[in-house]
Amino acid sequence: MGNRDETNDANNVNDNGKDDIVDDNANTNGNKSNDDHEINNKVALFNIPPEIFLPIIDNLGLGDQFILSQTSRALRHVFSRDWVQEMSQLGFKDSLRFWAAVASRKPDHWACSHCCRLHPVDTSDTPNTPRDPPCFAEYGMEDVSKGYTLQESHVQNALKLHRLGNQHQDYLAGLMRPYSTFSKREFMFENAFTESYTLNPRIIDNRFIIQEEWIIQDEDEVDRALSQHVKIYACPHVGVFDGGYLRSIDWKMQASELLRRIRPGAFEITILESMMRLAVKGPGYSMYDSCPRCPTDYEVVVSEDQHTATIRAWHDFGGEGAPVDTGWDAHVRSPGPDDWMYRGFAMREDGGRVRRLWLSSTS
Ligand SMILES: [Zn+2]
Ligand SMILES: [Zn+2]
Ligand SMILES: [Zn+2]
Repeated sequence: MGNRDETNDANNVNDNGKDDIVDDNANTNGNKSNDDHEINNKVALFNIPPEIFLPIIDNLGLGDQFILSQTSRALRHVFSRDWVQEMSQLGFKDSLRFWAAVASRKPDHWACSHCCRLHPVDTSDTPNTPRDPPCFAEYGMEDVSKGYTLQESHVQNALKLHRLGNQHQDYLAGLMRPYSTFSKREFMFENAFTESYTLNPRIIDNRFIIQEEWIIQDEDEVDRALSQHVKIYACPHVGVFDGGYLRSIDWKMQASELLRRIRPGAFEITILESMMRLAVKGPGYSMYDSCPRCPTDYEVVVSEDQHTATIRAWHDFGGEGAPVDTGWDAHVRSPGPDDWMYRGFAMREDGGRVRRLWLSSTS
């Protein structure tokens, strides 16, 4: 190792601690410590022959190399390089990967995919009590339902704290808190129906999974509520618009017909509407289908007495990593009507995977 140029470290991050890369990552022109030339030969990695050690390092991502370089003075010499210059040459996706890798070791910080840097963790920021992003910029976000807002940072922080297992466990509990509502719809000349909604997050196989469940109980046959009244928003692509499945199909068909004049091949996704219609015709039998555009599986079942409908959705928000690799973007609503249109007619090949993953887990 000693034959590496030990003087070329002017651009190394200073010794005063890991937090220097936080928030002001431009501050990598660190103070040069007097001790910089004392190489710590006790680092275990140095006992590995260089011909094995160096290829390992070369195959790490830049974020991992950076973290490793911060762990000891000796390793900093191994990585004596210009981090500012290296990072400025990264494209946007690799920058996101860099910061996600750095954040994965820091329980008090998360990587913001909008401004491409670290922010301190705000332990009051949970899906049940969402805070505005610190950079005041709009960024990847999913409104699973009113009152529950899941942000990418929630998912990443939960997965990281779950992995670490011994830090900020109160915050982890807050991030994993379920959400539920109950409402009763009453009418002047019709009977009432009730809707109870429950959202449950779970970490399964190191992935952030959410189950949503709507239970609709109708004093009449539940087809009345389903066909004329309910509104179900789950993933951005599959949903029943306000006014039940009949109006939802009608509205989507009219809109897509208009849209086809400028975008030929635009066809509405009416998976959930069709599942409801079939479930009403086959009480006691579960209907299963999957979103063609994001990893979300669906189930609809109507009870045999036909007074209760249960609708379930399972979402897979992915594992730890940068949003370009976890597939986060698939869950984010886009402006305009494009969300509930097909993009080609290819169905997901792993339909049912998320539902089975949920059912296989115990807690
Ligand atoms: Zn930011
Ligand atoms: Zn910041
Ligand atoms: Zn979807």
